[in-house]
Amino acid sequence: MSNKTARLIEAFSAIQGEGLNVGTRQIFIRFAICDLRCDYCDSAHTWVAPAEYRIEVTPGLRDFEVYSNPVQLNTLLGFIQRQNVPSLHDSISLTGGEPLLHAPFLAEFLPELRSLTNLPIYLETGGHRPEQLLTILPYLDSVGMDLKLPSVSGESHWQAHAQFLQYCYDSQTEVFVKIIISNQTDVAELERAANLVAAVSPAIIIYLQPVTPLEVGTMFAPSPEQVLTWQALMKNWIKQVRVVPQTHKMLQQL
Ligand code: SF4
Repeated sequence: MSNKTARLIEAFSAIQGEGLNVGTRQIFIRFAICDLRCDYCDSAHTWVAPAEYRIEVTPGLRDFEVYSNPVQLNTLLGFIQRQNVPSLHDSISLTGGEPLLHAPFLAEFLPELRSLTNLPIYLETGGHRPEQLLTILPYLDSVGMDLKLPSVSGESHWQAHAQFLQYCYDSQTEVFVKIIISNQTDVAELERAANLVAAVSPAIIIYLQPVTPLEVGTMFAPSPEQVLTWQALMKNWIKQVRVVPQTHKMLQQL
């Protein structure tokens, strides 16, 4: 595939529901394809590239137009230009799927995006592809890195997470860590995660995000007692451990 094209799910304007930017208005670019298979994934429709993607015409109105994949770089720039109405948006979110699977595209797209708008660029990622991150890190303003606990996600990427976080920190890119927790969370893994982050810097904020139970499945949110205990535990190593559920689901947003 050309570096000037990528597989997309959708692009639209919405309120960020998670992490450090919660409550802010963002232009979302949701890329297709993910190489992980987290047990709690609420975006399984992004795992493989669909034949078509959709792009919102008016910010926030969900008046989508549908096109065939792949998306051209210029089409995406045109979309940003249309959505970039003065003062509405706080930043642009690259999300997915796993956006870093499109690193060659992003390495061409992001410099052009920067010359088009001065909105900060924020990457949401599984945090397991440090080599791909390096290729686009100079164009990013902030990164939300998932740290996958094996007991909750079924995925295990400790070494890659440590390297990924170190790269963000060394480049002085704003970074926070998000950890999904369920009632099955292994406490030893939380301790290991806190130590992993503290080894890079105890000032990096960790967001504990109670899982939003899927309609089908056996995953349950942690009890209030579990959350209080785990936050207290992690604060032995990390200055700020914040507990924030997915607020966009409460608002019934995309
Ligand atoms: S990394 Fe994200 S999109 Fe991929 S499987 Fe996990 S939760 Fe789903």
